[in-house]
Amino acid sequence: MRCPFCRHPDSRVVDSREVEEGQAIRRRRSCSQCSRRFTTVEEAVLAVVKRSGVTEPFSRDKVVTGVRRACQGRPVDEDALQQLAQRVEESIRSTGCAEIPSHEVGLAILGPLRDLDGVAYLRFASVYRSFSSVEDFEKEIAELKRAEEVSPNDLGAAQESAAER
Ligand SMILES: [Zn+2]
Repeated sequence: MRCPFCRHPDSRVVDSREVEEGQAIRRRRSCSQCSRRFTTVEEAVLAVVKRSGVTEPFSRDKVVTGVRRACQGRPVDEDALQQLAQRVEESIRSTGCAEIPSHEVGLAILGPLRDLDGVAYLRFASVYRSFSSVEDFEKEIAELKRAEEVSPNDLGAAQESAAER
């Protein structure tokens, strides 16, 4: 890493500490030529492989953008979106793979989004799974209802949304 001030290629690490709960390391460096200090951040790269074969770094922001679109007009706030993106990242990191096919990112979004908002989930799933007919929606809704019956946590949410109607 070249010094950002004098472009000298060599520097000395004066301090390093873990940030973002150990997912990155921040290093304070001192240039061995001009002695000025600068910071570098080192992070294990989690790559997403798109269908075209192109690889790009995993981005929580991209998850949020995609999900936000599905949440338009729904009672989902920014905090909830950030939390969802964090859950997605955690579940992807826990697979232990450094390269994830993009469709698996979509898969990792479906579960937390279903917990968050049923309508947003249906919108997202309809695009992601390319629903092609009304029957596809009906099947998914039936499954959604079944899941709500099974989980007592979701039951509260279901009652809330029923009360809104
Ligand atoms: Zn320098």
